[in-house]
Amino acid sequence: MTELVLAMDGPAGSGKSSVSKAAARRLGWAYLDTGAAYRALSWYVMQRRIDPTDSAAVVDALPDFDYRIGTDPDTYHVFVGDHDVTDAIREPEVTAVVSAIARVPEVRSFLTRLFRDIVARSDREGIVVEGRDITTVVCPDAPVRILLTADEEVRMARRSAELTGHSAAHVGEALRRRDAADSRVVDFMNAADGVTTVDSTDLDFEQTVDAVVAVVQKETHV
Ligand code: C5P
Repeated sequence: MTELVLAMDGPAGSGKSSVSKAAARRLGWAYLDTGAAYRALSWYVMQRRIDPTDSAAVVDALPDFDYRIGTDPDTYHVFVGDHDVTDAIREPEVTAVVSAIARVPEVRSFLTRLFRDIVARSDREGIVVEGRDITTVVCPDAPVRILLTADEEVRMARRSAELTGHSAAHVGEALRRRDAADSRVVDFMNAADGVTTVDSTDLDFEQTVDAVVAVVQKETHV
């Protein structure tokens, strides 16, 4: 396994994806977005017209789920078979069903194995892995573990700025519903023992990346 792993968890809208990508770039490390795999599986399930709430049917589809993701923060792409789903997996229709898929235990163990395999095959000095259960389940032994948080209003404001064309109230409601559903499966609101909390409520983007890189430098001396 790549020795230097930064495991980073946090709720929707905490800035996790963009901050981890920027931190990986600055450190010269690889980057793995685990939410993209849950999203790509949701896209695949919808594509095959499987009911996302039918856990048994979702589990039956896993062996045919042909998934690839880039780990270079500069050439990030997500594929299912020959389809480039990098943009499609961000669509609200996918976001709306992802929590139902992510609560299936067989899905979680299947994707956890996939993530550990990608980490093991990475050829850079280190890798930033971000999601909801990275600090606790996927890479609990990572030398650096961070929980990135921000107050709910700030997260909603950031998310609605990203999703132009959707009302702030609608975005806020969808985000709250997804966090509530997701946190019934894994606790990403409270830092587990040994996990450092970085609260980005009063930080801008660059300051948040600085804070994350500072934790990495302190704990790994890179
Ligand atoms: O991080 P992102 O918002 O793209 O994640 C999409 C969804 O994937 C989450 O709402 C959650 O249901 C699921 N997820 C998860 N565990 C992870 C990463 C994402 O359950 N490690």
